[in-house]
Amino acid sequence: MVYKIPPSQIVIRPPVEAYSVLIAVTGGCNWNRCRFCGTYKGIYRTTQDYAIRPLEDVLKDIDLYAEKNYHGYPVFLAGGNPTSAPTEYLVKIIEYVRLRMKDVPRVSSYAKALDILRKKDEELIQLAEAGLDIVYMGLESGSSKILRIMKKGTNAESMIEAGKRVLNSGIKLSLYVMLGLGGKKLSKEHVKGTARVLTEINPTIFRFRTLNVMPNTPLWQDWKNGDFELLSPVECLIEERDIIANLGENVTSQVFNDHVSNYCSLETVNIKNDRNAFIKTLDSYINDPKIKNLPRKNLTQM
Ligand code: SF4
Repeated sequence: MVYKIPPSQIVIRPPVEAYSVLIAVTGGCNWNRCRFCGTYKGIYRTTQDYAIRPLEDVLKDIDLYAEKNYHGYPVFLAGGNPTSAPTEYLVKIIEYVRLRMKDVPRVSSYAKALDILRKKDEELIQLAEAGLDIVYMGLESGSSKILRIMKKGTNAESMIEAGKRVLNSGIKLSLYVMLGLGGKKLSKEHVKGTARVLTEINPTIFRFRTLNVMPNTPLWQDWKNGDFELLSPVECLIEERDIIANLGENVTSQVFNDHVSNYCSLETVNIKNDRNAFIKTLDSYINDPKIKNLPRKNLTQM
C-alpha cells in the first residue's frame, strides 16, 4: 500500500532554503515524467499527487507563521512547480507573505520552464512586482538530445527563452545543471550544450548537482540494463571543468556546488572574475591520484 502525502506536506526544498519558512503551495509535480527524477514517483511506500492547495489554506499557514513571529526569514513557496498555478493565485500568496511577515529578505520558489513559457510577460512582471525575488529552475542539460532522452519536456531553445523571460521580468534566476546526465556516451554533448545555454541566458546563479540514479526512476532500469553508463567522480569533475571553460566571456553568474551529490564544493560570486581559479582548482582535483580512484557515492536518498 502506498501512502499519499497530502499537498500541505513538503517533500523537497533547495539546500539554500534550509533555514527558510517553507509554505506549501502545490503538491507533487504537474509533469512528473523526467526519467532521472524520483521525487514524486513513489519512494519508501509514499508518493504525492499533483495538486494546487486551496488559497485559503495557504493564507492560513502564512497567518500562523506571522502569529508565531517567524519574521525576518526568507520564504520558500514549496512544491515541485508552484509556477504551474494561476498567476492571480500566486500574486495573492506573495502579497500576503509581504503583508503579514515582516522583513522577509527573499521570496522564492521552484519553476519549470514549461510553466514559465505558459505565462505572459505581464504575468511574470506581476509576480516580480508582488515580491517574488528568485526562482530555481532545472536546466539539467543544455543539450536538446539529452533533454529529449530524459523526457524533460523542454529543449535548449525553450530553456533559453524561459530563462531570459524570467530575468527580463525582474525575477532572479538560479539554474541547476546535472553533471553526468548524458552518461558516458553524451558527456561531450552535455558540456557543449550546457555551456552554450548558460552563455545565452547568463543566469543570476547556476548550481551543479551530480546525477544519482534512484531505484524508483526509469533511468535506474536503463543503468541496470547497461543502456546508460554512469560517469565516475573524476569524469563529473571534468564535465564541470569543461562547462566552465566553455562559457562565454559575458557570463557573470554566481556558481555553487551546494549539494550532497557533488564531488567538490567550489563557489564564486562571479564566474567571470574567478573562472581561471575555478578551472585551476578543478584541474588540481582531476589530477589528484586519490580523486582518480574515488568511488561514486551512489546515494539512494538525499
Ligand atoms: S525534475 Fe522537476 S519537472 Fe522533472 S519530474 Fe522531477 S519535479 Fe517534475
